Amino acid sequence: MLKNTFTLLLLISISTLFSQNNTNYWQQYANYDMDIDFDDTNYQYDGDQKLVYSNNSPDTLTRVFYHMYFNAFQPGSEMDVRSRTIQDPDSRVGDRISKLSEDEIGFMRATSLTQDGVALDYELVGTVLEVELNKPILPGDSSTFSMEFEGQVPVQIRRSGRNNAEGVELSMTQWYPKMAEYDFEGWHADPYIGREFHGVWADFDVKITIDKDFILGGSGYIQNPNEVGYGYEDVGVDVKRRGKKLTWHFIAPDVHDFAWAADKDYIHDTVTGNDGTTLHFLYKDNENTKDNWKNLQSKTVELLDYFNEHIGPYPYNQYSVIQGGDGGMEYAMCTLITGEREFGSLVGVTAHEMAHAWFQHILATDEAQHEWMDEGFTSYISGLAMNEVMGQNRINPTAGSYRGYVSLANSGYEQPQTTHADRYEYNQAYGTSAYSKGAVFLGQLGYLIGKENLQQVLNRYFDEWKFKHPTPNDFIRVAEKVSGAELSWYLNDWTRTTNTIDYGIKEVNTAQGTTNITLERIGLTPMPLEVKVDYKGGTSETFYIPLRIMRWEKPNAGTVVEDWAWAYPTYDLVISSTRYGVEKIEIDPSGYMADVNRDNNVLVLEE
Ligand SMILES: [Zn+2]
Repeated sequence: MLKNTFTLLLLISISTLFSQNNTNYWQQYANYDMDIDFDDTNYQYDGDQKLVYSNNSPDTLTRVFYHMYFNAFQPGSEMDVRSRTIQDPDSRVGDRISKLSEDEIGFMRATSLTQDGVALDYELVGTVLEVELNKPILPGDSSTFSMEFEGQVPVQIRRSGRNNAEGVELSMTQWYPKMAEYDFEGWHADPYIGREFHGVWADFDVKITIDKDFILGGSGYIQNPNEVGYGYEDVGVDVKRRGKKLTWHFIAPDVHDFAWAADKDYIHDTVTGNDGTTLHFLYKDNENTKDNWKNLQSKTVELLDYFNEHIGPYPYNQYSVIQGGDGGMEYAMCTLITGEREFGSLVGVTAHEMAHAWFQHILATDEAQHEWMDEGFTSYISGLAMNEVMGQNRINPTAGSYRGYVSLANSGYEQPQTTHADRYEYNQAYGTSAYSKGAVFLGQLGYLIGKENLQQVLNRYFDEWKFKHPTPNDFIRVAEKVSGAELSWYLNDWTRTTNTIDYGIKEVNTAQGTTNITLERIGLTPMPLEVKVDYKGGTSETFYIPLRIMRWEKPNAGTVVEDWAWAYPTYDLVISSTRYGVEKIEIDPSGYMADVNRDNNVLVLEE
C-alpha cells in the first residue's frame, strides 16, 4: 500500500516535470453554449454565453482571458496603428480602420460575467478581456462562466465584417468572446493584430436568431434543419418559416473555433464526398461566377480524397465552402473565400483553405508562434493536391515556394521562423517565411529522408496529434521515429535561425586515373548531398554523401560514399574515372535542397 502510494506520487511528480517539454501532454477543454439575438438593421447583437471551462493543467489558475476580437476594428486599435506604421501594409487594411465611424466600427463588450454564479471583476483591454477569478481553478477542476455580451459587426476590413466587396452581408468570424488558450507555455492572451488562431479545444452549442430571410452556413451541424430549410431540410419537407426571425441551432464538436456567414441570396448546394462527408457550397447568385461555383464542387470532392489519403481521414461529417471575407480564410469545418475569381483561382483557394482543415483545425498549431506549420504545411500539401486535381503535371509542385524562399534569404530582410507572426518588420517577410519557407521545410524534409518516409511522417503526425496542439518538436520527433534519422539539427537551423544552405564545386583535379572533386560548404546549414556525375558517352552516376550528424543514410539515393562532418568546410569526392571521362558535375539536380546560390552547383568540364 505504502509502496503503491509512493509510486503514484513519484509518477505525479515526474509527469509534472515532463509536462514542460511536452512529453506528457495535456490540454484545456471548454464547452460553449451560446444564444445570439441578431439585429440586422444596425448590425448589433446580444449574446448569452455559458462556458464550462476545465483546467486539465497541473497549475492553479487565478485569472482567465477572453479574446474580444471585434474591438480590433476601431480607430487607434493595435491592428489599426500597426497597419498604418508597418513598412508594407496589407492593402486590404491600410488606413481603413482609422476612418471607421461609430456605426461602422466593430465592438465586443461583456455586460456581465459570473464564475459559478458569483460576479467577477474584469477589464476590457483592447481585444482582450482580463478577468480576476473569485475562486482559483485547481488542477483537474472546472468552473462555469456566464457572460452577457453585446457586439457590433464592423464594416468588412479584414476577414470578418459586414457587406464585403462581393456583397456578402455577414462574414461572422472571430465574432464571440473566446477563451484564450492556456498550455504548457502558460497563457496565450495575444492581442488581435494580424494572426489569431490558438484556441481551446471545445464543443459548441450555438443558437443564432436572425431575420428569417438570411441563409446561414458555418461551423457545426444544424440541429433544426426542417425549421430553417434553405436546402438543409430533409427531402420532401415543406418548411414554414413563421414570424420575422428564425433561430438556427448549430452543434460543433471537437473544434477550437466557431464561424458563420449569412446572406439573403446565397445559393446552397450540397454534394456527398466519397468518404460520406457532406460538402456544402454557399455562394452568391451571380451570373458571372455561378458556373465556376458549380464546377468547383466535383473538384472539392477530389481535394477531399487527396487530403484524406495524404494527411489523414477528415473526422467531421460536414465541410462548407462559403463565399465571404476578403480572400480566403480557414475556420473549423468551413472556409470563407471570395468568389469572383477565375476557375483555377477558385479551386486553388479552396484547396489551400480546405487543407487548413487539417493543418490548423485538426492539427491545431499555435499560429502566432509557429506560423510556418500552419501556412507552410498547408501550402505544401495544397500545391501537391492542385498538381493532381488540376492535372498540372509539375515535376516539383513546391518549386515556387523554393524560389520565394531563396529570394527572401538573399534579400537581407529574413527573420527566423520563431518570430511571432505579428512581429515581422515586413508583411512580405512574414508571408514568405510562413508560406514559402514553411512549404520548403516539408519539401526539403522529403529530400532528407525520402518521399516515402515523408508520406508516412504526415500520416503518423495526423494520427498522433489530431485534436491537439502539436509543436515543432512534436513534428520533428515523428519524422525521426518514422525515418530513424537524427533531425533536430534541421529543425534548429531551418526554423530558429536565418542560416542558409550553399554548397559549391570548388575544384576538380585528376591524378592516376581518378577524378577528385573538391566540394565546399559555404552556408552554415549542413545538408547531405546528392552529386550527379555525367560521364562521356551518356552514362551518369549519383553519389550520395550522408551528413554525419544524421547518423543515417537515405535508401536508394545512389552510390553511398563517406559521410561529411559539418565542421569541415571542404570534402573530396574521389571517383575512379579520369577527368576526361567526366563531362558534368551537379550538386542536387532534383532542386529539393534549398541552396541559395545554385551558380556554383554545376560544373561542365571542358575537353
Ligand atoms: Zn493559409
